[in-house]
Amino acid sequence: MKTVNHWIGGKSVEGTSGNHGPVYNPATGAQDTRVALASVEDVDAAVADAKAAYRSWGTVSLSKRTAILYKYRELLDAHRDEIAELITAEHGKVHSDALGEVARGLEIVELACGIAEKLKGELSTQVSTGVDVSSIRQPLGVVAGITPFNFPAMVPMWMFPVAIACGNTFVLKPSEKDPSASYRLAELAAEAGLPEGVLNVVNGDKVAVDRLLEHPDVAAVSFVGSTPIAKYIQAKAVEHGKRVQALGGAKNHMLVLPDADLDFAADNAINAAYGSAGERCMAVSVVVAVGDIGDELVKKIADRAAKLRIGPGNDPSSEMGPLITKEHRDKVAGYVHGAAAQGAEVVVDGTGYTVDGHEDGFFIGVSLLDKVPATADAYRDEIFGPVLCVVRAETYDEAIELINSSKWGNGTAIFTRDGGAARRFQLEVEAGMVGINVPIPVPVGYHSFGGWKDSLFGDQHIYGNDGVHFYTRGKVVTTRWPEPSEEVGINLGFPKNH
Ligand code: NAD
Repeated sequence: MKTVNHWIGGKSVEGTSGNHGPVYNPATGAQDTRVALASVEDVDAAVADAKAAYRSWGTVSLSKRTAILYKYRELLDAHRDEIAELITAEHGKVHSDALGEVARGLEIVELACGIAEKLKGELSTQVSTGVDVSSIRQPLGVVAGITPFNFPAMVPMWMFPVAIACGNTFVLKPSEKDPSASYRLAELAAEAGLPEGVLNVVNGDKVAVDRLLEHPDVAAVSFVGSTPIAKYIQAKAVEHGKRVQALGGAKNHMLVLPDADLDFAADNAINAAYGSAGERCMAVSVVVAVGDIGDELVKKIADRAAKLRIGPGNDPSSEMGPLITKEHRDKVAGYVHGAAAQGAEVVVDGTGYTVDGHEDGFFIGVSLLDKVPATADAYRDEIFGPVLCVVRAETYDEAIELINSSKWGNGTAIFTRDGGAARRFQLEVEAGMVGINVPIPVPVGYHSFGGWKDSLFGDQHIYGNDGVHFYTRGKVVTTRWPEPSEEVGINLGFPKNH
């Protein structure tokens, strides 16, 4: 059985706890791998190495830092397939989807390659006679990232490339469910020339997370995961005096107006609801059909759903893979089983789905629930599986009220040909990321990613300019070089500009 260790101080470290967690291949249900679970001492060792590395890394020139990042970008590019295979083996998503994840992570490495531009300070000359003022941004020190299972390569890459480009050193605690991709990312960073201790990976569970949150030498924490844990992370990090951004769960609505192209909308709904088996924080999990298009739209989605090919992620003919664990698969099935009793119409029931030759895999088919009441669990909870709810609304106003009364506000989308309606939607909707005829509006690397309400705790979004702000702190320097003859004299008054 393969063991995934920690990556500390530029090398593989077994750790001291002696504890391991299981890592499954979701397509077979077999446990092929185990992951070391860090003790408090292991986390302390990683933070100590990161702290030691910060002393030099924080002052390494921008050109040297970016030279390493460019090399890293090339190595990642060359290893796309290998990283995607690791993702598919432990997460289950199909290879093409895993490649997409790697590509979106690479985008942030490319952003980090241009960090010199982002870190340019500001200078005002002669703000007062003979006085100049400059604003600069400096790294924080050791920063930590805690990441979810659903994007084991991309989400870590939302964080550490920007953090280390800004001059910080990083301790990553990836999901214990699919740790191999993160570990490989750290190995490749070392191969690119990143000095020991700048990027560390500690694998583990709550023990490791809590130690990172409490550790006095960790200056900031980035978290991506479910809403209850995001809330916990924010509160505990703040209690321990840390800067924190904690991205949580979601329930993303796709509003379809009566003038929309319904084939285009149905294709997009299918892709965004069932891609990665619905295990995306930006998945569309609710379609809101406005006016009298509901029956036709539901039929179009159901027809397409019936044709989806579900199978192991390493089979090129599969369009959707299994769920992450058996327990999660059974929980998702529970929402479909309970939906009818709570007033929904079960149009497509994907539960009980098996794949020939993979009977022990964590597979489930896709489900489509229509006329789902806002009180049903399937509507209220984040299911995080291939279950699409359709809600009917008579008017745009009714639809937007429904969306805005959701406790989450990650992404949302409108499908329409009416520019005025789309414009109104983008201004009125309460969500951090809005798509107009785009179902999964994950921003490109040079814009920032983040939701509103229970989808993000903290004020800075992740990557882009917000990411640079999060991983740096401002300093303002006021300078005067007096002329040899200049005298200030004694004046106890508050300094005024002159
Ligand atoms: P999760 O919250 O269970 O785990 C995330 C991380 O927190 C993991 O590293 C895990 O080890 C750690 N963790 C779990 N329980 C903990 C506890 N009690 N104390 C301390 N640490 C703990 O999330 P997940 O199941 O891995 O990922 C799926 C969730 O992540 C979904 O809710 C999804 O919407 C969300 N997500 C959000 C975004 C976003 O950008 N907003 C992106 C991806 C995923």
